[in-house]
Amino acid sequence: MTQETIFERILSGEIPCSEVHQDELCLAFRDIEPQAPIHILIIPKKPIKSLREAHENDQNLLGHLLLTAAKIAKQENLKDWRTVINTGEKAGQTVFHLHLHLIGGRSLSWPPG
Ligand code: AMP
Repeated sequence: MTQETIFERILSGEIPCSEVHQDELCLAFRDIEPQAPIHILIIPKKPIKSLREAHENDQNLLGHLLLTAAKIAKQENLKDWRTVINTGEKAGQTVFHLHLHLIGGRSLSWPPG
């Protein structure tokens, strides 16, 4: 059995979050350690460990996550923003439930560290 991540505990309501959006496919909430004035996580309700484990039949879900990020960015009055998906420990993934970071509200440098 795979261990429940903190995001599954947020999805079940066991752990509170600062919710900004919810629909039948995903939940979005503010990151607890924001790296910018706006830092929101968009997570699928389906427990996919990372983008590596996503399948072809998740195409609609993955598109939905991106479009939801854009919708939230506009709601947050962001003109420019960055969406990030860390996949695997060496890429910075710490929670193994797929999630998309929406980051904005300040200038962002490139390349990332
Ligand atoms: P990643 O490093 O890409 O796996 O991103 C995980 C993110 O989850 C980090 O930015 C954390 O700050 C964030 N995080 C961890 N626990 C919580 C929580 N309880 N509520 C909101 N964000 C969290």
